[in-house]
Amino acid sequence: MDVRLEGIRHKVHNGERLSAEDGLYLYRHNDLLAIAELAREAKIKKSQDKVFFNVNRHINLTNICHSRCKFCAFGIDSQDQGAYAMTPDEAFAWGAEVVEQGVTEFHVVSALHPDLPFDYYVEVISRLHQAYPDIHIQAFTAVEIHYFSQITGLSIREVLETLQEAGMGSIPGGGAEILNDNIRQQLCPNKATSDEWLEVHRTAHQMGIKTNCTMLYGHIESLEDRIDHLIQLRNLQDEAPGFQAFIPLPFLPENTHLQGISRTTAVDDIKTIAVSRLMLDNIDHIKAFWIMLGIGIAQLALHFGADDIDGTVIEERIMHAAGADTEKGITKNEIIRLIQQAGYLPVERDTLYNILREFR
Ligand code: SF4
Repeated sequence: MDVRLEGIRHKVHNGERLSAEDGLYLYRHNDLLAIAELAREAKIKKSQDKVFFNVNRHINLTNICHSRCKFCAFGIDSQDQGAYAMTPDEAFAWGAEVVEQGVTEFHVVSALHPDLPFDYYVEVISRLHQAYPDIHIQAFTAVEIHYFSQITGLSIREVLETLQEAGMGSIPGGGAEILNDNIRQQLCPNKATSDEWLEVHRTAHQMGIKTNCTMLYGHIESLEDRIDHLIQLRNLQDEAPGFQAFIPLPFLPENTHLQGISRTTAVDDIKTIAVSRLMLDNIDHIKAFWIMLGIGIAQLALHFGADDIDGTVIEERIMHAAGADTEKGITKNEIIRLIQQAGYLPVERDTLYNILREFR
């Protein structure tokens, strides 16, 4: 009998918090099915047999970025081929074009454009919100919010208040990468530090704004760094609750400055889902982001603790710039079939996890 694993099993049965050492032990353990069983138990306690999805439209306003993070294939210079910045009219049209398809969320995430003023972003949100007040707008990562604060001189709270008044309903979880400033210094020195990223989410939560959180893994970080990242998220959630979902994102090396690094393996991806589910006992949902994981691994991840498979994103650009070889969008029927085939109940949700429809 594996005494250490039994100890972890005992904690999971009793709803006790796992330690950093427990998380590392699970990561290094090779009995995938034992880990899956524990993660599934934790998932069932949170969301029973439900697996959530939503119908959303990603709007990536620009790919021109002053930050040029080494792991990113999306952000480029304004002179580079393929550089673009939507006008507010174009952004509006991009959103409006899919409204008839039952979209319940506009998901607005972009790069750190060196010249576009904050007013531009506010105008885009405001126009979408005024035209479609029932469609939730999840907009701007903590890194972007922090950047808006830098270019305007407004505080983080003032930036969030302005966006909220324009119609922003919640903020996504991107830009966390790995919350370790040595790593950030090597990979993305020109954007928000770990503390700055956490501070944006802390402020948002204190204002009652829901957010998500992510982890970009599989580049230069160690397993210890990943566990430390999860614990920082867990601590913030204890202090100022507001994270709805955690989304682990495998690093996709293609077209980045880190091409010597191999893409993560399927075992690493599903273990990361399972360890996240087990470590983040105070975050309700773990999302298997099919765009980056691939549809097959995302479906498998449902047996490793994931209870959300993201949206029927209609044309996604950021991950595909980095070589994601998945479809740019899949239909609602395909998502429902994927979830049913895995043996779970597909549940369409809105951005705030209100249930819209169950597909029994
Ligand atoms: S990750 Fe974001 S901030 Fe970094 S280069 Fe890409 S778009 Fe710019």
